[in-house]
Amino acid sequence: MALTYTTIAQIKSAHAELQKTFQEQKTLSLEYRRRQLLQLARLFQENDESLCNALYLDLGRHKLEISIPEMGPIVSGAVRTAESLEEWNRPEKPKVEEWRSSWDTTIYAVPKGVALILGPWNYPFVTIMLPLIGAIAAGCPCIVKPSEFAPACAQKLAELFPKYMDSSAYRIVNGAVTETTALLELKWDHIFFTGGGPVGRIVAAAAAKNVTPLTLELGSKSPVFIDAGKTDIELAVKRILWGKQQNAAQICVAPDYILVPREHQDATVEAFKKAYKTFWPHPKGALDSLSEYAAIITPRHHSRLLEFLRRTKGTIVHGGNAEGSKRLEPTVVANVGLDDALMEEELFGPIIPIVPVDDLQQAIQIINERPTPLVIYVFTDSEDTKNQFLRSTRSGTLTLNDTFVQLGVHEMPFGGQGESGYGSYLGKFSFDTFVQRRSYINVPPAAEPFMGLRYPPYTEEAYQALSAPAKIVIPDN
Ligand code: NAD
Repeated sequence: MALTYTTIAQIKSAHAELQKTFQEQKTLSLEYRRRQLLQLARLFQENDESLCNALYLDLGRHKLEISIPEMGPIVSGAVRTAESLEEWNRPEKPKVEEWRSSWDTTIYAVPKGVALILGPWNYPFVTIMLPLIGAIAAGCPCIVKPSEFAPACAQKLAELFPKYMDSSAYRIVNGAVTETTALLELKWDHIFFTGGGPVGRIVAAAAAKNVTPLTLELGSKSPVFIDAGKTDIELAVKRILWGKQQNAAQICVAPDYILVPREHQDATVEAFKKAYKTFWPHPKGALDSLSEYAAIITPRHHSRLLEFLRRTKGTIVHGGNAEGSKRLEPTVVANVGLDDALMEEELFGPIIPIVPVDDLQQAIQIINERPTPLVIYVFTDSEDTKNQFLRSTRSGTLTLNDTFVQLGVHEMPFGGQGESGYGSYLGKFSFDTFVQRRSYINVPPAAEPFMGLRYPPYTEEAYQALSAPAKIVIPDN
């Protein structure tokens, strides 16, 4: 599918037009925001089939794997956000000290301005539309750039957007590095980037030039700990394999590697074999023509994954078959060491390394010695294990007893920590990303008798009265 790139001249004129729209306050009224949100929901609901077809062309994903993580969160997210606009935009009246109570202290949620959203190819709708929902809710015009590596999806969005959305405020820009670089040279009021760490650093440097606030949603190696002996291994593995095989594991929140007590490694491998058979009962398993299993995005990425399998010193205990330049079956590799090729970087593909550990303490230590992940997955029934992970590890999310469920929970923030990025989104958190909390204070003339104490000539009496806050009694403990 050929993707039409936006020209640099069109990019500049779109940016100028969006700035004008913002200055004219067109995106400010809640009625306008509501209409745009509902239009976005309609765009996805009414074009479900053609959007799913586009995603199938790009990634070969079954519509169930599109509905759960993409269409559902977008349509319901836009509608639920539209329903929440009044509440989220209501000015807040913070409780202040008694002597300031006549100052009408108020916090207004005001739009930051014109925003830029840059997206990856792996979840080509949801990773750009959920932030866009936040931008619309906040009253920010926005340019959205989908990834050029999912061309059918990017082209479809470019075609549908002008039919549903107000083009003076919401635009799709298409292109690759040249176009993204041109976008990053312009001045924005917020940039929301989802992608890999290396490009994330380029975006952060560009944002820094204009002191532009930035959200970075990056990838990471999300570990899994199976608390064997305190959890049902077969159920744990079934849920891990389900999360891992989504989109052929090209997911930022994919369970990347598995830590399991050494004596339970064999049982874990057997559980993978069993779950695999129930998911793909056909003769050629996941690669069978009857199996619904997504493709690897490019031959280059496919070769990268095969190279990992060639270099690993672990043992391939299940799978390992590849076909053509875009198919690789879920492959379990046991006895993987910490210095193995499979532990070098985010795998972003259907390889499942099992790293045997002595115990829970060693698992925690391994996780803590590595860059902070987006998610830590723990399978356990033990409160103690849960508490140890809560207390002693860091990650964007800690998920117990399931995988790949984070993006569906509209009420919770989703985002990274440390090297997996900063900032967050989903529901109200997306709205928060695109608003500035503007403080408003009105000190009435009637407060003058007290305020009069601050003017020169300074007196000891004024000093004593005004320095009282520094002299309050500090509690013993
Ligand atoms: P990527 O970083 O290669 O590309 C992301 C975007 O950056 C694309 O729009 C691309 O056009 C643009 N880009 C690429 N090179 C650029 C350059 N040199 N200068 C400026 N812009 C450039 O990421 P990807 O391969 O599309 O996506 C995979 C990565 O995204 C994985 O690491 C994955 O974990 C991560 N990801 C994270 C999340 C999350 O929510 N944290 C979600 C999905 C994907």
